[in-house]
Amino acid sequence: MDTLSLRDELTRRRDVVETRIHAACARSGRRREDILLLAVTKTVPDSILQLLPDLGLCRLGENRPQELWRKAELLSSRSDTWWHLIGHLQRNKIERTLPLVELIHSVDSLRLLNAIEENSARQGRRVAVLLEFNTSREASKQGFAPEQLDELVPALQSLRHVQVRGLMTMAALDADAETSRPCFILLRSLRGKLRALLAERHNCRHLSMGMTNDYEVAIEEGATIVRIGSALFGGLYG
Ligand SMILES: *Cc1c(COP(=O)(O)O)cnc(C)c1O
Repeated sequence: MDTLSLRDELTRRRDVVETRIHAACARSGRRREDILLLAVTKTVPDSILQLLPDLGLCRLGENRPQELWRKAELLSSRSDTWWHLIGHLQRNKIERTLPLVELIHSVDSLRLLNAIEENSARQGRRVAVLLEFNTSREASKQGFAPEQLDELVPALQSLRHVQVRGLMTMAALDADAETSRPCFILLRSLRGKLRALLAERHNCRHLSMGMTNDYEVAIEEGATIVRIGSALFGGLYG
């Protein structure tokens, strides 16, 4: 596809996603501006990536740190793009990742959380993260088990540089979006518990949940960030 028709097709897809987000907001009495659309660019070629900021797709998510570093460098002249890491962060990649990201969605162990705290102290930065929970209980999924919530609290109370801004989950993968609903409800209830336990600390308000298959259900259940890849980019390349 040439650049012009690519741009048209991306615009059309963005509009479809926007229309559905608005409809889900209307159904659940929510405001569009309370939801962030994160465009997931993993495997998306650079030729497409470079078109995104002008289409208003300014918040971009990558699941692999090295790919995020490379793509952030490619768009480094654009001050209107923000990167989110949504996949596993290895501890030896923390240092280089911190300066590049607005939010890390995928903190899935205390060991990683503490390593990020140490590193952000060293770099003199504040870092915003989400805690990933395994709400589907699938063995293949990363994340804290829901029962671990209470035992996390002392560690969270002692953080000085890392701010826990909310929770993230990947729901069970299923063609039927309704299968995800219990996972989303569980994540919302975990956020409620965590907020009560942490009191005012951390401003723990985000729920990063919902992907192409189930973002409308996620919005109905309170998602503040939806992570969309295939609906925007599927079949456009490769
Ligand atoms: C790939 C990915 C997404 C996007 O998935 P789609 O189904 O393509 O929308 C969202 N979140 C994470 C963590 C991912 O790895």
